[in-house]
Amino acid sequence: MSILKKARDNLFIVMIAAAYIILFIFRPSMGITSLKNSAYYIKEMIMIMPVIFVLTALLDAWVPKEQIMKFLGKKSKTKGVIFSLILGSISAGPIYAAFPLCVMLYKKGASVRNLIIILSAWAVIKVPMLLNELKFLGFQFMAVRWILTVIAIIIFSFIASKIVKDEDLTVDIHENGASGEPVFINKSACVGCSLCAKTYPELFEIKNKKAAIKKGNRQIDEEKLAMAIRSCPMKAIYFPNRQDYDL
Ligand code: SF4
Repeated sequence: MSILKKARDNLFIVMIAAAYIILFIFRPSMGITSLKNSAYYIKEMIMIMPVIFVLTALLDAWVPKEQIMKFLGKKSKTKGVIFSLILGSISAGPIYAAFPLCVMLYKKGASVRNLIIILSAWAVIKVPMLLNELKFLGFQFMAVRWILTVIAIIIFSFIASKIVKDEDLTVDIHENGASGEPVFINKSACVGCSLCAKTYPELFEIKNKKAAIKKGNRQIDEEKLAMAIRSCPMKAIYFPNRQDYDL
């Protein structure tokens, strides 16, 4: 029973393992090639991700939340679009390196739309990519593709932000902590036990079997929040002052 539960909780890994087993049984050569490719990407990730995490932590510490909200927040409008395009374009490294950065930016107030623009620009119009394109395919090809891609990114980010809402992300956020700091729920870690909602029902609720933060601006009752954080068996609730709660 517990093996079945573990398999269900790690369904993605189980599916990959099953795909490898099937490949090795029916197409062993393809299985070996896949294994080599996976090993190559895992090695690359092990080398790159620590650097990305350090850079993200430094940015988190150095760039004030107000600046992120001003340039990338929901009210940043055209300025946010331009800044997101620039941020994604001047980036370096593989696209998966962008995800921890985007989580940090989101926690500090960046909007879903601007995150989509950053990720899209990072993936398809990075400056190093454009320079290579210019070298191999010429200026006209590069310029036309760049213009059309930017237009597509702007349109699709607008559409995507109408479909993907804040509550759909794995990180739930409350903007107005008593200290001005936000409260987060890591929905990937949350098991939906509802202890937080029972402890602090004015702030937490259960939606789709996961904890969520109730809509609406309210001051945080830090005492209740501390109890809710302590009650969470998965340590899924994060408040920047949580060390104050002796966790
Ligand atoms: S207490 Fe933690 S695990 Fe349980 S519902 Fe709340 S956030 Fe999720």
